[in-house]
Amino acid sequence: MNAATNLLEFDREGLAAFCEQLGEKRFRATQLFRWIHQKGAAEFAQMSDLAKSLRDKLAGRAVIATMPVISEQASSDGTIKWLFDAGAGNAIETVFIPEDDRGTLCISSQAGCAVGCRFCSTGHQGFSRNLTTGEIIGQLWFAEHHLRQRLNLPEGQRAITNVVMMGMGEPLQNYAALVPALRMMLDDHGYGLSRRRVTVSTSGVVPMIERLRDDLPVALAVSLHAPTDALRNDLVPLNRKYPLAELLASCNHYLDKAPRDFITFEYCMLDGVNDSDAQARELLALVARSGVSCKFNLIPFNPFPESGLKRSPNERVTAFLHVLQEGGVVATVRKTRGDDIDAACGQLAGEVQDRTNAKARMTRAPMTVHRSGSDVAVAIAAGRADPQETRR
Ligand code: SAH
Ligand code: SF4
Repeated sequence: MNAATNLLEFDREGLAAFCEQLGEKRFRATQLFRWIHQKGAAEFAQMSDLAKSLRDKLAGRAVIATMPVISEQASSDGTIKWLFDAGAGNAIETVFIPEDDRGTLCISSQAGCAVGCRFCSTGHQGFSRNLTTGEIIGQLWFAEHHLRQRLNLPEGQRAITNVVMMGMGEPLQNYAALVPALRMMLDDHGYGLSRRRVTVSTSGVVPMIERLRDDLPVALAVSLHAPTDALRNDLVPLNRKYPLAELLASCNHYLDKAPRDFITFEYCMLDGVNDSDAQARELLALVARSGVSCKFNLIPFNPFPESGLKRSPNERVTAFLHVLQEGGVVATVRKTRGDDIDAACGQLAGEVQDRTNAKARMTRAPMTVHRSGSDVAVAIAAGRADPQETRR
């Protein structure tokens, strides 16, 4: 007996193939897709303009289901964070950030993350598994339709106008599941978001930046965090596999197809580590050498106990910002949202049954370069192995 198929797993093309398997015309998929993603239907009985025979078939074989919601927390600033149960002891988080002129959803792509950045709570937890397409888009499906009701929005008005793949996980290490989910976000029969309003944030998986450029070039944010390879190797271990020169070359290449004419560089401000005026000048030189058109987004570090790192003082962030701006680079400081519910960047902890032993690794060797080659976990953290390759 086959388990029911979750229709959230399919983009429109996938849904058309599924309809065909059921002996239905492919165009039915568009109707079905609109019911699911535009109207938020979770029951086939609701889909009043679908033939009864199709509804009956679907009811026996398919479901529309997200990961179960474990909890919801609302911040005094309007930010809402949901914790979803990803099974086997894993949980992931999704954050809604309302602003005057937009509503942004910050989506997770993996349970944990194998990159293991020093300053990131998710990275400290290690990696458990990739989310599926349905689990990625399910975060948007749930949040959009839940918020429409909760905010009592008039028919047709969207709650979520922007998506950022900046939750837990490295989206470009889960490329196969990510791309159909992005396609559904952009689909006019789905969420109809423009490519400018969907941002993939990456720690720098160069070959996948190239593929995204060819497949579906949405807005790109690159987590830079350091002006030199030596420092970036330590903060973002993936840099040892894809060093700055390669990363910046791929950013330049991406820009030919990008929906915006700049790449956003994210830079997490760490006290005494990467926040000096001299380092800001090194960044200016790096950007000038590479010729990448960019904007810097300085993120005040959101501390968590195990990191052993501190947030740069506000005056330091401002001084660093001014050096960049005076050097002719557009730079802003990211406003921290959802502080009171730990919903800020890098604090998304969820819960991860680590398969890579990251906790032990980070406790053993804070702020040092991993050199041991035998351990798969180290290989993943250093970006020398794909998490997929090591999945059981
Ligand atoms: N893996 C992707 C996307 C998820 S992380 C990436 O690294 O880009 C989203 C952003 O949060 C990244 O820019 C990351 O560097 C930043 N971040 C991680 N931990 C942080 C922390 N503790 N404080 C502030 N920003 C953090
Ligand atoms: Fe992974 Fe991004 Fe966190 Fe680095 S910052 S560990 S890439 S989620």
